[in-house]
Amino acid sequence: MAGMTVPSWVPGQETKPAPMPLLLVQSFVNTWDGDQRSDLLLDPAAARSWLTAAGLWHARRAPEPAELDLARRARESIRAMLVANGGGPPPRPADLRTLQAAAHAARPALQVGPDGQVSVGAGPASPLDAGLVTLLLAIRDAQREGTWQRLKACGNPACRWAFYDRSHSRAGAWCDMATCGNRIKNRRLRQRQH
Ligand SMILES: [Zn+2]
Repeated sequence: MAGMTVPSWVPGQETKPAPMPLLLVQSFVNTWDGDQRSDLLLDPAAARSWLTAAGLWHARRAPEPAELDLARRARESIRAMLVANGGGPPPRPADLRTLQAAAHAARPALQVGPDGQVSVGAGPASPLDAGLVTLLLAIRDAQREGTWQRLKACGNPACRWAFYDRSHSRAGAWCDMATCGNRIKNRRLRQRQH
């Protein structure tokens, strides 16, 4: 997507961004970067700043360690679903438990706007639960619109970067053929040379 600008909270050099609001889900998953070995949801101050910028955190405090732990588990739940979207195995029951618990605890709130438009958002909840409701609603909308299947985790198990497959065939399996594919090839080459 040459010339496409993405919001500043989108992690990494994103070459395959999903449309909003699915971009939120993609970026949440990509707060963990297997290649750079970095995690934006480890340090409370860094996590607060990223989650706030992405509109997933509205509290005047940093997340507690237990909340960050929950956020990281929710992230891996979603990643397991994206692995399946990429042609990998379906998520195991244990993979989905965190998201199921978040959905169960969720209190979504319906609103009717001045134009009569009915919308649903996060109701009163803890800051993290509200953020997870926002992500779950984005997933629900994408599943209904048919864009969900295009959000995939990279086929390279050491990478698992979430990318949006815009290809006509929807058969893309790599976050970036040029960079990720080359990294694997180089690794294999090194292994063979050893
Ligand atoms: Zn990759």
